[in-house]
Amino acid sequence: MPEGDTVWLHARRLDEALHGQPLVRTDFRLPQLATADLTGWTVTEVRSRGKHLLLRAAAPDGRRTTLHAHLRMDGTWRVYRPGEPFRGEPAHSVRVILATDRAVAVGYRLHDVTLLPTDAEPRLIGHLGPDLLGPDWDAAEAVRRIAARPDRPIGEALLDQRNLAGIGNLYKSELLFLRGVSPWSPVSAVPDLPALVDLAHRTLTANRERWVQSTTGSLRRGHTTYVYGRRAAPCRRCGTPVRRDSAGERVTYWCPTCQPDPATGRPGPGAG
Ligand SMILES: [Zn+2]
Repeated sequence: MPEGDTVWLHARRLDEALHGQPLVRTDFRLPQLATADLTGWTVTEVRSRGKHLLLRAAAPDGRRTTLHAHLRMDGTWRVYRPGEPFRGEPAHSVRVILATDRAVAVGYRLHDVTLLPTDAEPRLIGHLGPDLLGPDWDAAEAVRRIAARPDRPIGEALLDQRNLAGIGNLYKSELLFLRGVSPWSPVSAVPDLPALVDLAHRTLTANRERWVQSTTGSLRRGHTTYVYGRRAAPCRRCGTPVRRDSAGERVTYWCPTCQPDPATGRPGPGAG
């Protein structure tokens, strides 16, 4: 699941592959960028901001541009050697190709792909709250933003990138399980909001150097999460069947015993 840590690692891998290199070929397979061409531009850096990826490039005449992309649920990047066949993803899902003399970066199923002047980046990412993996991470500000709407369910507040940037469905579900908090608990009823935010920061930081996301400490397939992806399976702590609830792209997993409804003490809503 592409969350902030996955995008951070993609950005680092792309930066290692492309940084300081002039682009010798670019191909944008998107209607809105069909005529775009960055051949001759030099990649200056690739960074993530929350779940957004920003690839910055400079033209020989000094102009600076940023390629922005979002992975949503299914996007990915791969880096190939020049001449190496693109493997592992269907060819029709290619959206962007950026080639230097040393590497070919291919973006698959990218969303919200935009080219814009680098100094206009705030238009796309200015609304984001503190970035969990950013050099300027600010835990107190994230807590302040979440606490500003005390009646809102905490599960929803954690997903809101204006509060803090980087959390998706997987970490939302796992963090709330680890803190014993129901996803439907109002923010005001969360016992220790700073501890929850601190756990989010530590969890994404611990996972950012590898592709496998684990909250349990195990990297074995099927053992990497407490509740996420484990509908009806027994809770690893108490044996109660794990529940799942979904609304569009929002999916929540939780244990009704370990994370009781804050008002009644009983299991919260959901499809079971
Ligand atoms: Zn449980």
